Amino acid sequence: MAESIDLDLKQSFDDLHESVLITNQDRTIIFVNKSMERLLRAKSEDLIGSTTKRFFANPDKFEKMGELYSTPADQRHRQTYLLELVLGDGSRTKAEVVSAPLFDAERTLKGLLFFARDVSERLALEEQNRNLAYTLEDALHAISEGFAIYDENDRFELCNENYREIYAHSAPAMVPGTSFENILRYGLDRNQYDTGNLSDEAWLAERLASHQKADGSVIDQRLDDGRWLRISETRTKRGGIAGIRADITELKEAQAKAELAYKNLSLVADSVSGSIAEVGLDGKCLFINKTACDWFKGTYEELLGTRLRDRLPWKERNFVRGLFERAKQGQPVSEEGTFHFPDGVKRECQFDCNPRFNEEGDVDGLVVMMSDITDRKRTERALAELYTITSTRELGHEEKIAEILRLGCEHFDLPFGIISHVMDDEYTITHAHSPNGELDPGTSFPLGDTYCALTLEADGPLATVDAGNSEFSAHPRYEKFALETYIGAPLLVDGLVHGTVNFSAPEQRNRRFSSADIQIVKQLADWIGHEIARQLDHQALMDAKANLERMASTDDLTQVLNRRAFLERANTEIHRFRRDRTPFTAVMMDIDRFKQINDQYGHAIGDRVLRLFADSISVTLRSVDVFGRVGGEEFCMILHNTDMDGAMAVCKRLLKKISADCQLPRLDETITCSMGLATPVREDVEFSTLMQRADMALYEAKATGRNKCVAFIPPLEEAVGA
Ligand code: GH3
Ligand code: MG
Ligand code: MG
Repeated sequence: MAESIDLDLKQSFDDLHESVLITNQDRTIIFVNKSMERLLRAKSEDLIGSTTKRFFANPDKFEKMGELYSTPADQRHRQTYLLELVLGDGSRTKAEVVSAPLFDAERTLKGLLFFARDVSERLALEEQNRNLAYTLEDALHAISEGFAIYDENDRFELCNENYREIYAHSAPAMVPGTSFENILRYGLDRNQYDTGNLSDEAWLAERLASHQKADGSVIDQRLDDGRWLRISETRTKRGGIAGIRADITELKEAQAKAELAYKNLSLVADSVSGSIAEVGLDGKCLFINKTACDWFKGTYEELLGTRLRDRLPWKERNFVRGLFERAKQGQPVSEEGTFHFPDGVKRECQFDCNPRFNEEGDVDGLVVMMSDITDRKRTERALAELYTITSTRELGHEEKIAEILRLGCEHFDLPFGIISHVMDDEYTITHAHSPNGELDPGTSFPLGDTYCALTLEADGPLATVDAGNSEFSAHPRYEKFALETYIGAPLLVDGLVHGTVNFSAPEQRNRRFSSADIQIVKQLADWIGHEIARQLDHQALMDAKANLERMASTDDLTQVLNRRAFLERANTEIHRFRRDRTPFTAVMMDIDRFKQINDQYGHAIGDRVLRLFADSISVTLRSVDVFGRVGGEEFCMILHNTDMDGAMAVCKRLLKKISADCQLPRLDETITCSMGLATPVREDVEFSTLMQRADMALYEAKATGRNKCVAFIPPLEEAVGA
């Protein structure tokens, strides 16, 4: 067999797909099949008889192979080599060669059988794969994220360096074949993770569940050292899991800072009493504060992304739109307006709209602030009106007080306004404003029955808009009158408590009283106190004046009119007579023999007689009559609307009355007087003339016996002319 090979065998080798070459023991080729001819690119006739050495690119390899099969132990083995071959056409290729020894019956090595396969393509492919793997590995190491792959049984396959660095504590467990769970447990034992308030087992279960989902969703993981990782895990084609870990600590910190800043901003925005909204160019909300939510009656979520202005009546909506359009031009806009808000409250607002600019300097939104200036405006108006009322000269004190009370009712929008005077625990209404005059000035209550008791106790303004749910509810007044709304202040007059000023309503008020309202009620009370003080001053002044006038016109001794005052009144009577010829009679009176009384009993007794005389006549006369002392013991009276006959009758009665009244027990003489009467006859008569005439008649009475009345008889021509 060694030198030749039989035809049948050759035939069957030729049919083989594998390349076959047979040598004898000194490695001279004795057979190649067709496949080998193709592989070596040489014909069988060129090959047979030559040594295989010619095909070795590396002759050393040839030598080494020769050492094989030289010892009996090796001869039993089949060997596999990877050889670089030099082919028949001089080109090279790589082949995988398997050699097997051929023995004869005596177990003597006779030759070698080689099977060869061209592996250059496979090697090239392998090379390519290897390069690809390197590229992939390079890529894996180059990416800044941590990357790991777990196989379909969730066992660790590979990861990049970043992955190990990120999970430095767990890294020793990252050995191919270790389960994901065990790596987690290993890490847990070494405080790799911040498990928060979860137990290790609960944390593990949660983490495993999200890992197994591997749906590409993102979860954030906190490590024990405070770092934050963002994890994204996806299923591989083979059913394993590929995961990426990005360190987002800085992002989280920035986020936390931003959140804090936003929270602080929201806090500030929420603590602002006005409405704040940030809107896009379309007017839709990007941010709103709490007040805006209250006014526009919605939750943050409901209102966000909507246009707040659409919730206002159309006229106000147009107004706002107009302001938006102006602000969009890049200039801040500020206006005042009245708005009917969805919460049912009408507010006067200061409306500020500031454009917001993007980095390019274009307006990309607006910041809209609405401040409630209702109270300020109302306060301004109330104070202005208070000033007008108090400064006008056209109103008297009473009218001013009534106007201030009305102003209070209007300002607080309450039906009842009361000014009270409080004395000895008695509360008396002195002034009242009510829609239908329900409250009567003069009405009194025990002070304890009124809210004002609390106001006086507090020694300052007091208010409630919901008495039923306040300290007022325990008050007897609440049980009696159920007044829900009350605002009142003590009323001081000249620094002393005079009473209270208060405004009230049976109903609850939809707006709380502002601090400005408290100031206003105090102002109103102050001004009313001021007016009352001035009213009292005025009254005192008038009283003093009247007293002075009375003193100036009264005779000190007898308290009847003195001469000057009497003559003034007499003149009035003369004027009346000239106007409508109302008749009257002037009567001159003189006490008879008065000198004697003085002389006999002393001046003091004389004075006493004078007083008795004056009193006796004063009480008899009507208020329309005039009576005065015109001399030492001489008096004069005017009997109004009384002619001579009537006057004579009156005077005669008086003579008797005087005698009766002026009797002093110690006197043994009777007091009498004489009277002279005169009536005007012509329109141009002067009172002095009339007095003269009455005096003349008096003289006659004295001359003809005293204690009598004598009428003056006017000259005939006067009587005719009259
Ligand atoms: P006749 O009846 O004539 O009137 O006598 P007569 O004494 O009253 O006389 P006459 O009228 O002249 O006297 C007036 C006296 O009245 C003089 C004076 O002393 C006295 N007299 C005047 N004023 C007062 C007074 O204010 N008090 C007192 N006590 N006496 C007075
Ligand atoms: Mg006299
Ligand atoms: Mg006399």
